[in-house]
Amino acid sequence: MTGGDWTRAIIHLDLDAFYASVEQLRRPELRGQPVIVGGWSDESGRLQTARGVVSAASYEARRWGVRSAMPLATALRLCPQARVVPVDFGAYRAASTQVFALARTYTPVVEPLSLDEAYLDVTASQRRFGAPRSIAAELRDRILDTTRLHASFGVATAKVVAKVASDLRKPRGLVVVEPGEEAAFLAPLALRTLPGLGPAAERALQGLGVSTLGQLAALPLDVLQRRLGQAAGRMLWERARGDDDSAVSVPGRPKSISREETFAHDLDDDDALNARLQELAADVGRRLRQGGWCARTVTLRMRYSDFTTLTRQLSLPAPTEADLAIAGAARGLLENCWTGSPLRLLGVGVSGLEDASQLDLFARRVDRDTRVDHMLDQLHGRFGHSAPRRGAATTLRDLDFRGDDLRGLGQHSADER
Ligand SMILES: [Mg+2]
Repeated sequence: MTGGDWTRAIIHLDLDAFYASVEQLRRPELRGQPVIVGGWSDESGRLQTARGVVSAASYEARRWGVRSAMPLATALRLCPQARVVPVDFGAYRAASTQVFALARTYTPVVEPLSLDEAYLDVTASQRRFGAPRSIAAELRDRILDTTRLHASFGVATAKVVAKVASDLRKPRGLVVVEPGEEAAFLAPLALRTLPGLGPAAERALQGLGVSTLGQLAALPLDVLQRRLGQAAGRMLWERARGDDDSAVSVPGRPKSISREETFAHDLDDDDALNARLQELAADVGRRLRQGGWCARTVTLRMRYSDFTTLTRQLSLPAPTEADLAIAGAARGLLENCWTGSPLRLLGVGVSGLEDASQLDLFARRVDRDTRVDHMLDQLHGRFGHSAPRRGAATTLRDLDFRGDDLRGLGQHSADER
């Protein structure tokens, strides 16, 4: 059956057995094995499990009844052959950053709920990327290709419905609830599948003879409110019919992004400074793209051996997310104001940030460079600092972005000597 128009399209993405999957990926001997993530390593590197709880369990361990938040001792009684590995948030955060960066290539409106879960509002992405179902399917394939991690997806017109849908066929599920089908989709489901409906509310509702979301939605609102309170009663009554217009909220956009480096030895070698400047620009560019932003202004900060500090800014002709444009503008500023005396610090920053996907495509430098940057970001996410980078020669020769050319572009000083 085909539904109506997707006037709102929300995807809920939930990685499957996330911590345990990351551990199984980096330790091949754990694949196919029951794995419990929990406990911690002491100074000698020995795993401590006493008083620990299960942070996560692989599907192989769940088959034995192991669940998150269960004491490790209990889990090991249920599944004595389980392999226990300590929690490593650094590794999970790195994987999570990669996944969310992929999500942001489809929409800047991404609301992470935890390291392994996020809402995406893809309403405005349909024109460019197609139907919500194909966006979810494509994202699923790209996450798998890039990270080897599996995820489940729910697609619906409302957050609460998308979340219930993603949970329905875990792992590796993709459930689409067509517009207009929300209430019918939820109706047969058990009360506990509804986010926000805890054990206390469940008991109260069972006392009213209610066991499905359809029965909950059919109750008179005032009966529900007398039982659960005004606010909670109304919230659950609305949610049970898929009535939820809450927005996907993006964590605050920063005013600026910058990176600076103080050198171990003061530098006056042009090539060396150039290489540093490009690394700084690439780092700033990566964080810009990770957030799904474009920048209008590039800032260069330099400090001489005598601590004289200069900050120079350049307004770009169009917002950019490309390393080349950031590095080129910073290079132009350097050529314009550097006296040639040794520098002890160099910094590159961007400001005037805007949501990349909300900009007119023609106003934005969506060009080969940006696509290359996105590709390099993925490699960086996958391989860290061993990932390939743009060569210095490539950047500057391709660019032809000299100080002289920059004078007409609104350059101004933010700081005088
Ligand atoms: Mg999950």
